[in-house]
Amino acid sequence: MLNFAAAGGSKRYKNKNMTNRTFTMIKPDAMKNGHAGAILDRIIREGFKIVALKMTELSQAKAGEFYAVHKERPFYAELVTFMSSGPIIAAILEKDNAVAEFRNLIGATNPAQAAEGTIRKLFATSVGENAVHGSDSDENAEIEGNFFFSGLERSM
Ligand code: ATP
Ligand code: MG
Repeated sequence: MLNFAAAGGSKRYKNKNMTNRTFTMIKPDAMKNGHAGAILDRIIREGFKIVALKMTELSQAKAGEFYAVHKERPFYAELVTFMSSGPIIAAILEKDNAVAEFRNLIGATNPAQAAEGTIRKLFATSVGENAVHGSDSDENAEIEGNFFFSGLERSM
């Protein structure tokens, strides 16, 4: 029979799984402007472990699929064109409370409203060209990670 401590232990174990992952992209503007190294360095220094990482380029179709949730928004075409305009870096990151912690680290969508010291405040140029993507939920983190990486059975 499980005692209280063992039950607590199993809860901690459960919390160490997918809920502690988020997905990010370094967007084409930050790549072009030479900020990729500084952004990755900051992510690592903030305690995120890189579980998977690759540099790649999105076709218009793939960018449209990734941001399909915004299909009806006025900025959708601009977003798809921008996201397929050059190389990106895609990565899966791990940290306790990863989704929320990473959203805090990147700051508000519009860099003009982003808090001092956040990645978007430091490196983004506009609301559209805002340096990085960060998943907005555990569920989307998993979907987005699977969009770029497959066969990822465990972290290293
Ligand atoms: P992301 O999903 O890329 O992490 P976010 O969650 O902060 O960004 P969303 O509302 O999901 O913001 O918008 C997705 C992306 O669409 C933004 O990061 C930005 O690149 C672009 N975008 C959002 N609002 C605008 C806008 N008003 N004008 C132009 N582009 C926009
Ligand atoms: Mg979003």
